[in-house]
Amino acid sequence: MTSEQTPSSPIHDQLAELHREYSAIHDGEVATYIPELGKANPDWFGICVVTTNGGIYEVGDSRQEFTIQSLSKPFVYGLALEDHGRAEVLGKVGVEPTGDAFNSISLDPVTGCPRNPMINAGAIASTGLVEGFTDDARLRRILEMFAHYAGRELSIDPQVYASESATGHRNRAIGHMLRNFGILAGDPMPVVETYFQQCAILGHCRDLATMAATLANRGVNPLTGEQAIRGEYVESVLGVMGTCGMYDYAGEWLYEVGMPAKSGVAGGVIAVLPGQLGIGVFSPRLDSKGNSVRGIRVCSALSRRWDLHLFNRPGIGKAAIRLRLNGAEYNSSRIRPKAEAAALREHGEAIQIIQLQSNLVFATAEFIVRELTELNGLESVVLDFRHVLSVNESAGHLFHDILLRLHAAGVTVVFTGVEKATSFRRLMRARLGARFEELFRTFEELDPALQWCEDRLLARLLPDLPDTSIAVTQYALLDGLSREEVAVVQSFFERRTYQPGETIIRAGEPARELFLLSRGLVSVYLPLENDAQKRLATFSPGMAFGEMAVIDRAPRSATILADTEVSCDLLSIARLTALGVTHPKIKIRLLENLSLDLCRKLRKANREIAQLV
Ligand code: GLN
Repeated sequence: MTSEQTPSSPIHDQLAELHREYSAIHDGEVATYIPELGKANPDWFGICVVTTNGGIYEVGDSRQEFTIQSLSKPFVYGLALEDHGRAEVLGKVGVEPTGDAFNSISLDPVTGCPRNPMINAGAIASTGLVEGFTDDARLRRILEMFAHYAGRELSIDPQVYASESATGHRNRAIGHMLRNFGILAGDPMPVVETYFQQCAILGHCRDLATMAATLANRGVNPLTGEQAIRGEYVESVLGVMGTCGMYDYAGEWLYEVGMPAKSGVAGGVIAVLPGQLGIGVFSPRLDSKGNSVRGIRVCSALSRRWDLHLFNRPGIGKAAIRLRLNGAEYNSSRIRPKAEAAALREHGEAIQIIQLQSNLVFATAEFIVRELTELNGLESVVLDFRHVLSVNESAGHLFHDILLRLHAAGVTVVFTGVEKATSFRRLMRARLGARFEELFRTFEELDPALQWCEDRLLARLLPDLPDTSIAVTQYALLDGLSREEVAVVQSFFERRTYQPGETIIRAGEPARELFLLSRGLVSVYLPLENDAQKRLATFSPGMAFGEMAVIDRAPRSATILADTEVSCDLLSIARLTALGVTHPKIKIRLLENLSLDLCRKLRKANREIAQLV
């Protein structure tokens, strides 16, 4: 039975339940010290969660706009960091939490700086640090930044701005104090006006949650893919949110809820769980500390129900290894002559393949590096990065160091799929210098990397590999036939040669013959969507290909190209049929040999598939 309906989201239902539960709370007061804020409907209540994977869940008045107020502070602080760097900003605004209220008129008595960027003094100082030739230009940059965070243009509420500008003398006093102590240069009043404007930016819960999720996602908006802040500054923004975001409630908040957060007097709250999600809640009634009552309750409840506390994270050490394989159990698609296949089965453990996934950070890289230091009898290791999401600096250093150590121990490390990890490549180039090309051996795909390792191992194990060209009597298809019988079959052969890159068989075409490879190498490719193709196998002299059609007479299922100069003997299906009438014994023998060959291929495929599940 198939369902006509898609199931509703359990996450949405959980949020709806929380919303229902906390709608009953009517504690707290709407802020009125900015008169315009007093007009808010005290019952407005919206919740939205946005995940770094791009999931969006919203309930209640999640599209009701309100002014972001102090929620603007961490974001503008981030812009100041981008404009001046950490050292210079730290010289003007501290990062110590204070027990004072958000609007306290005080500076650190020792440094003479505002104590942190989340109280008004530090926030106004941060606004003053935003670059721009004019006040307008500065405000435009602030609005542009918010548009990246929210994924849409946000506007300023003119009434709320006018209302705060008309009454905000305390903040003007703070501006003059900052000017007096040299934190602001020039006339402080335009900076305070820009600060009032940034506080009057309109957003709704979904904007808030998206902004929070952008911080959770190292500065990249998970819905638009746009970078709102350089990743390296996100930790600083979240750092001050974690310690100072909830004003004099910050300690209890970090203890109970365990997420960096920020509130605003209009009733907005954001919370960020780095790597996972952002939460935005809106409810205008505030507690005595100026934080939204329901906002705090919802964040606490979500933290508890969903186990979001930052200091309660699962171990990730082993999560980065997707698959472990070795060259005895798993081989490249180069089909080997019997002696070579046997050598690989016996000695292939000297080749190890470690397929990695997820984000490589210190703890995940540590586990991989430890595994590598514990392996014995290695010749080469393939580190497959195709499923890796990111490699951070510390993991990159570990891979560099282990590469050198393994090299010194005579082990070759081959990397695959690192094209996209540009910062990792840069790090390797910087650290390896002129030895980069020699030591940082990379392939795009696993298959050619593995073949390269196999070829090297085989060259050592079997120094006299067979010639690239063989005699007709060496075809596996003719095994067990007498000299006379071979001569009969051979009289039907038609010799053809191909240039490197030439198509020998094209997928979809009718099949008229089977091919015996006498000289050179050929590869079988399966056509994929979007014009790509996947190499299935490479054959060497003595092997048959295009033989399936002899059995099922179906059109060609794959394309076969000459890798090198190639000579083949073709045996037409019509001739083979005729042979069945004149020399049935020969035909039976040929079919037996073909079956053996198919058996061997199927066994290899089965062995490898078993490794993958
Ligand atoms: N604009 C408000 C002020 O400066 C912001 C305060 C807040 O949201 N806590 O007073």
